[in-house]
Formats: sequence, structure tokens, C-alpha cells
Amino acid sequence: MAGFRALPSVDQVLLSPMGRALIDAHGRTAVTGALRARLDAARAAIKGGEDGETEAARLPHLLAADLATAAQSRLRPMLNLTGTVLHTNLGRAILADEAIAAASAAMAAPLALEFDLDTGGRGQRDDHLRGLLCELTGAEDATIVNNNAAAVLIALNTFGQGRQAIVSRGELIEIGGAFRMPDIMARAGAQLVEVGTTNRTHPRDYQDAITPDTGLILKVHTSNYRIEGFTAEVPAPALAQIAKKAGVVLLNDLGSGSLVNLSAYGLRSEPTVAEAVAEGADLITFSGDKLLGGPQAGFVVGRRDLIARINRNPLKRALRLDKIRIAALEATLRLYRDPDRLAERLPTLRHLSRPQADIAAQAARLAPQVAALLPDYTVTATDCASQIGSGSLPTDTIPSAGLRITGAGGDAPDRLAASLRALPRPIVGHITGGALILDLRTLDRDGDLLDALSA
Ligand SMILES: *Cc1c(COP(=O)(O)O)cnc(C)c1O
Repeated sequence: MAGFRALPSVDQVLLSPMGRALIDAHGRTAVTGALRARLDAARAAIKGGEDGETEAARLPHLLAADLATAAQSRLRPMLNLTGTVLHTNLGRAILADEAIAAASAAMAAPLALEFDLDTGGRGQRDDHLRGLLCELTGAEDATIVNNNAAAVLIALNTFGQGRQAIVSRGELIEIGGAFRMPDIMARAGAQLVEVGTTNRTHPRDYQDAITPDTGLILKVHTSNYRIEGFTAEVPAPALAQIAKKAGVVLLNDLGSGSLVNLSAYGLRSEPTVAEAVAEGADLITFSGDKLLGGPQAGFVVGRRDLIARINRNPLKRALRLDKIRIAALEATLRLYRDPDRLAERLPTLRHLSRPQADIAAQAARLAPQVAALLPDYTVTATDCASQIGSGSLPTDTIPSAGLRITGAGGDAPDRLAASLRALPRPIVGHITGGALILDLRTLDRDGDLLDALSA
């Protein structure tokens, strides 16, 4: 077994110049652990007949590679070129520079989170956002929780626990990730009363279902699917009348809930929160990290007396936001005060509103440069179709442009996709028609793609 003697000892490697450099970079514990594993593997290989000298020569290189791989976070920044602007699996909205700066500052130093700078007395964390939310939506009051699922949960629990909640069968949605309206209702302690049918629900369906045990009527924006054809739903203003007459709460879960009219940006409009408020719902819930373009959060806006009851629910403490997200939300909401510059400053809106011609020019410019970096593939500029994502306008696509990449062999797109995912800055696109498509709608700078590919 002379082959084993070719291998260095643990101490020899740790004391070598290379060992010291690796310890500087990764720490002694990590280097020792990785080295032991590599030495074990080398001994096993030699036992299996491999040459000792060869194994010893390979060792430093393999050790450095192991350590570099282990040091890479799986949460490292990527390039989302899927064409889905708000990609839930890729973290939804990316934040405006102003929001990132506010979040960083909030992480680095104490701030008046629940402290009144005027009086030196106690303040409330929601106060930093309440005024802005009321200003931007026209609502009387607002409360903020962890996400929209939490907003729906706490509203249902506050007004529906031990009581009945009426919902149209056409709106009993599943959002994905185990958010099903009937399940959330059960957890909130509310008894679900289904009315109408999948495709048609009428005012009398709600009226007939109201009893002295009714706590609320829930309206859900069916954001991630569309029922078409012979359909009828009761519009929010009519439902508000029914709820008011019966003295029950009308809760409208908007889901994405845009703060601006998207038609001003060349998109089909989603209902805005201000419209939902004006339609008379008592409470409206919506997300922070969908069309709003901020960090994950959930908002309930509406009647002051009802918001006060939600704030007294002990669940509020369990679902509250941290200072980092409150700071980022405040900075994001402030951007909405200057609508003229909003599309420029808020990445979600900037990406969604980019004209196709602009993206097509970028694709034409980048195609030869990307082709030079991927010599085994054919790269051409192509038209493609983006979508908003996160359940907004699910059947709508936005004309876009990107790169179409093909190669030899049927598995070329899959192989390329796998190697792009393995880059230091991973790139994801989507595969269609035997090609990998990189939709450039969300690529702010050409250099981001070229740098990522060059690595
Ligand atoms: C997305 C969505 C939710 C869940 O919101 P999160 O912020 O992801 O928790 C609830 N209801 C509707 C209608 C939605 O579209």
C-alpha cells in the first residue's frame, strides 16, 4: 500500500502556503473538515487501484473547489429572465433603491420604531405607514401584518370567530402554497357558508344566507384564474349595500391590490385599492410584494372602528412586521406621492411598463455579444411574452423580447439551463419550443447579463 504514502498529512496541508490561504478565506474549522473528507476520498480511491501520486496532485485543487462551493450561498443574487416579473419562487418584487437604503439604515442603527420623537413617549410601529396608506387609498385607517394571507386570517378571526362567513362558490380560491380560502376560514374559527354556484352568484344568494350568526361577507378577487362565459358576480357596491343593511362586515380580499391605475402604464387595469375603498367595502386586504412593489407585507385598510378591533386581536402581535420591512415599506409608499417618477424609481412598475421596442433593441444589441460567450450555441433575438406573475392578470401577456438560444442535441436547452443555474450569479429563463428563452424585460443593464455569463 505504498500509494497512501504519497498523500500529505492534515498538518502538512494546513501549514502549507495554500493551506494558510484557504484558512484565511474560509476559517480553520471548514478547511480541516473539507480536507479530512478529501483525504478519506483519496485513500478510498487508492485502495480501489488509483495511483497515489495522481491523487496527491489532485488534492489541493479539489479541496479549494469544495470550499468555494460550500462558501457560496444558495440565496445569492440571480438574474430573473423568466419573463415573469413578480416571480413568487424568486422572491417577488425587487425593491427600489430608496427602500433598500431605508432598510439598510434600519438594520444598522436604532430608530424610533415605537417611540414618539416629539414627546419622548411611546409610539406605535404602524404609525409610520398608516398616514401614507390612508393618503394613497382614501381609507380611514390601516393596519399592517406579515403578508396578505395574515391580513385575511386576522380579519376573518376578528369578525368571524364562532360566527358565519359568507363567500361565493366562484371565489373559494387556492393561491398556492397551501393557502386555500376554506382552510384559512377554518383556522380563523369562522364557519364557511358557501353561496351561489361556481359561475354565477346573485344578490339574493347573499341575502338569503344572512342570519343572526353572520359575522361577515367575504369577497375575494379571483386574481389567479378567470371564469369566462355564462357568469355573474355581485359587484362590490351592491354587496356593500347588502352588508350594510344586515349590519355585517364586508371584507374584500384584493390580493395584489395596485395603488395606481395600471392602464396609465399600458397594462390592463387591476382594481386599485382606492377604487375598492370607494366601492364601499368595510375592509380591504392586499399584499406588499405584488404590484405594490415593496417587501413582503399584508395590509388591511378600511373603517377606523373595525381596524381598531383588529389591532386589539392578540394575533396582531404574532403577525406584526419588523423594523426592516416597515422602513422599506415607508420608503416605497413615499415614492407613490410622486406619480410622475414612479415608473422610473419602482423596479416592478419600471419592468412592467417597459416598451417592447426598447426591449427588442436590447435583444438585438445583446444577441451577438452573448453568442460570443456561448460558442457552442446559436443565439438570436426573438419576440416573446412576459407576464406580471403572482396571480395578477393571469391570462394576460405583455409583448416582450429576448434571446432565443438553441444548440446541438435535443437536451441542449436543458443542459444550458443547468449550467446557467450553476453560475456564481445564476440566470434563469424558460424553455419553450426546443429553445431556452431569456426574456430581457427585467434586465436593467446589459452588463449584468454579460458579466454573469463571463464568470
Ligand atoms: C396573493 C394573494 C393572497 C396571499 O397574499 P400573500 O401576500 O402572498 O400572503 C391572498 N389572496 C389573494 C386574492 C391573492 O391574490
